[in-house]
Amino acid sequence: MILFQVKPTIENIDEEYKVHDKSFLLYLYISLTKLLFFLTIVFRDICALFTSKKNDKKLNHLDIEPTNICTANCVFCAYQYQEGKFYKKIDDDFVDRLVDSFCSAGGGDIGLTPIVGDPLVSPDIVKLVSKCRSRKEINQIGLTTNGHLLTSEKFIELRDAGITNIVISMTYPDEKEYKTIYRSTQYKQLIDNLNALMLIDKKQVNIALGIRTPRLFWKNNPLFKKAKLQGWEISRNLFFDDWSGSVTDGLKKNHLLKRPLRGKHLPCTMLQSGPHAMASGKITACGCRDLEGKSELSDPKLFAPFYESANLEKVYYGTMDTLRNRFLNGTLPTICATCRHYNPEYKFASFKDKLIQICADLKAGLKFVFVPGCD
Ligand code: SF4
Ligand code: SF4
Repeated sequence: MILFQVKPTIENIDEEYKVHDKSFLLYLYISLTKLLFFLTIVFRDICALFTSKKNDKKLNHLDIEPTNICTANCVFCAYQYQEGKFYKKIDDDFVDRLVDSFCSAGGGDIGLTPIVGDPLVSPDIVKLVSKCRSRKEINQIGLTTNGHLLTSEKFIELRDAGITNIVISMTYPDEKEYKTIYRSTQYKQLIDNLNALMLIDKKQVNIALGIRTPRLFWKNNPLFKKAKLQGWEISRNLFFDDWSGSVTDGLKKNHLLKRPLRGKHLPCTMLQSGPHAMASGKITACGCRDLEGKSELSDPKLFAPFYESANLEKVYYGTMDTLRNRFLNGTLPTICATCRHYNPEYKFASFKDKLIQICADLKAGLKFVFVPGCD
């Protein structure tokens, strides 16, 4: 947009922060971006009215958390609020039971990204990838990492074990910004790892960079250009969830945009695709926000068929309906009510419920536009 005359550079990042604080134009930009957010989701809601995939498979994704320890401490992440025990690795028998049950139900994709934590901290990560790859029912195997431990040697081990997708999360390539937002001193290690990775044969592995930056102008960095030439996908997280309000101050202080709270009627996609198995041995329905598995989404009753007889299919085609119905009848779990990470699952919904979802999103959009202070 030509509205902004200050082009952020490594030297003027502080200046850029000031602009974020004071500029009316920036305020306008943020408001328009959020408005566009609502227009986009309502458009998606409307398109979904005319597609029906009721026969699609529900249990098609399994998340396994190799560890809940991280080497960074990002301002936008709830890692800083993790109170329970830290697990360096997940139990092997637990993983075997999960993978067996998932494969018996037809399998699908496996994600090895913790709710919070870096998967490469686990000493078993390569073994885990091999274990999953050895099953014919498994398609994609992916993980997201902050890249601190993604040396060329580690990448080659993961590649040869059968990983298919790696997302590396980082800020704009600027040490000061990295230190501020990821609160880590490992910037140089990350950049060395990225540069080394560019020289390796990636074979079938898809690499993506997920950029978390408050900058308005961020695309024209030589590192990104080099990565693009390698075929890496580069995307930027424009909005952030506030983890039910716990990281609101961190987002505000660092000029990261809080994702608007959308209307919720249809069950969240998280309740359809598959479970997240935590390094602690608990299972939760939500691989996104149920930090430590303390919410209703990890109620043992919900997963009783798995705990009792290693049957995940009975969960996703049975007990999970209780949770899904709580969305439809407006009594959704507290953690979901305040969650900004929500995505409605249209595939299995009736026409009427899809219409109600449109109204809920329209209402949230109008509230955002007309109610002062609503974000
Ligand atoms: S790198 Fe990931 S898990 Fe670690 S603190 Fe940052 S967002 Fe959280
Ligand atoms: S609404 Fe949020 S907390 Fe609830 S299942 Fe979806 S992503 Fe998880």
